[in-house]
Amino acid sequence: MVTGAHLLAGSIEVICGPMFSGKTEELIRRVKRAQIARQKIQIFKPAVDDRYHESDIVSHSSFSIQAVAVKGPVDILKNLLDSTRIVAVDEVQFFDETILKVISKLARRGIRVICAGLDQDYRGMPFGPIPELLAMADKVDKVQAVCTVCGLPATKTFRKDNSHKDQVLVGEMDLYEARCRMHCDYYDEASDDMLAFSLPETNVSATNAPV
Ligand code: ADP
Ligand code: MG
Repeated sequence: MVTGAHLLAGSIEVICGPMFSGKTEELIRRVKRAQIARQKIQIFKPAVDDRYHESDIVSHSSFSIQAVAVKGPVDILKNLLDSTRIVAVDEVQFFDETILKVISKLARRGIRVICAGLDQDYRGMPFGPIPELLAMADKVDKVQAVCTVCGLPATKTFRKDNSHKDQVLVGEMDLYEARCRMHCDYYDEASDDMLAFSLPETNVSATNAPV
């Protein structure tokens, strides 16, 4: 028997990738479509991200939408309105792991949750709650930027000033560049557990270049 319960099913969507890859643009695009469909939507971002505007979400191409800046994940629940059908969260990597429970709770309530965030930090390591979030998501889109060195698709965020070692260092083009794998070398011989296994020499740049 069809109960109609599926109509209440929530969902979790994640848009991830490096800086400048269009995550915020894509988030804004989905939000605008929902607004055209007259669905009630609320947009949140972590208060740590104060690069352009206290509460607006602004893309690098200057598209913007209004958002609520929250200190922590539970503030999303505290601010939630009864009529809200969609919750969008930008810069989700800056939240602690409580965000996973908050997002699950929203989806269980039948809400469509759209998250955008960096999948990797400037050393290519998974960022904050992102690995679990990707695993529990219903839909994941990994978007690419353009490598500032060679123009090929970029999946990494390169920190120009390597003297700052903190994972979180909020900045823009002054501090970061989108780079492809070839032009973003995180390799550290001291921490290479695979050093004993030598592979034959190969001209990686020629064999792996996208056509
Ligand atoms: P993200 O949220 O992923 O950091 P945004 O959505 O804010 O990205 O901005 C994407 C826009 O950034 C692009 O449409 C383009 O105008 C601009 N941009 C600047 N540098 C680059 C780059 N290296 N690669 C791609 N887009 C870039
Ligand atoms: Mg963004």
